[in-house]
This record gives sequence, structure tokens and C-alpha cells, in this order.
Amino acid sequence: MPFTPFHMGPALVVKAAIPRYFNIPVFAFTQVAIDSEVLVGLAFRGDLTYHVVLHTLAGGTLVAVVAVLLLRPFIQPGARLWNYLIAAKPGSFLHLEPRVPLLAAIISGLAGGWSHVLLDAATHSHIAPFAPLVGGNPLFGLLSPQQAIALCLLLWAIGGGWILTLSYRRRRYARHP
Ligand SMILES: [Zn+2]
Repeated sequence: MPFTPFHMGPALVVKAAIPRYFNIPVFAFTQVAIDSEVLVGLAFRGDLTYHVVLHTLAGGTLVAVVAVLLLRPFIQPGARLWNYLIAAKPGSFLHLEPRVPLLAAIISGLAGGWSHVLLDAATHSHIAPFAPLVGGNPLFGLLSPQQAIALCLLLWAIGGGWILTLSYRRRRYARHP
């Protein structure tokens, strides 16, 4: 995937479907963390093709573990700061949960780590998603880059619209129970 934010499309749909068991900041952390290895490759090799360690299912699992470990010292305080800075009210579209259940963090971390690797592997021939156990990339070609981008944008629209609708209904119910 050429651009990290595209990976958020599937996350918005899952968030809308199972809001209590899914946390967007944890998922977002995994997306940025995994693509940070591409930036390291850019700095040291001058290209955007370094997908070696974190762009594997093992690497994605490692990033998920780090995300869960950083939940209390980094991700939750970050969510609270975000809510404060934009004055987000609980129940509103942009409000982030200040406390995340451990199960939701684990689900979101693993979903983020694995979905990122699988999506990227479908569109990048040089990624070896099952390394170090198995080399090669049996997933390459499942989606063309254009199909992957179109799918992510479609899921962005579906998930975003779904969450907006739920938030609108919640706020309307709060005003007129
Ligand atoms: Zn990536």
C-alpha cells in the first residue's frame, strides 16, 4: 500500500461493527509503526521498498505486542490529549475512548498488524509475509494496487458513514431519550 492512511478503511468498518472490542488509536499505531520501516529504508537506501522485518506476520505480531504494552503509557494519554485539544465530547464522532479494555487492545493490535501485512503482500511482490518460516509471497497478485486502493477507499466511506450515523443516533437519543 503506498500510503499508510489507506489501511484505516477496513478499521473503520470493524469499529462500526464491534465498537466495544475495537480501538482505532491502537490500530492506527500499528499502521504507522509498521510503515516506519519503509521510512528507515528510505533514509538508508534511498527507496521505498524496505518491507523486510515488520512487513511479515511475525513482525506485525511483534508490533501488536508493542502496541498493547504502550497502551497505558502512550496510546491512552495520547487519546485523552486529542479529546482535550479538539474538545471532543463523549459519543461524538471524533471522541476517542480514554480507557481501552485489554481485549480490545489485543484485537485491534493483531488486526492492525496482520491486515497491514496481508494488504501490502497482495500488492508488493518483494514482501515475504510468512518469513522467516517460509520465503516467497503466495499472496502477491490477489489484488492489483488500484483494486487495493479502491477497496480501502470504499471501506473508508462505508465505515466512516456507519460511525457517523451511529454517533448521530447516540447524540439524538441523549437529547430525546
Ligand atoms: Zn506497509
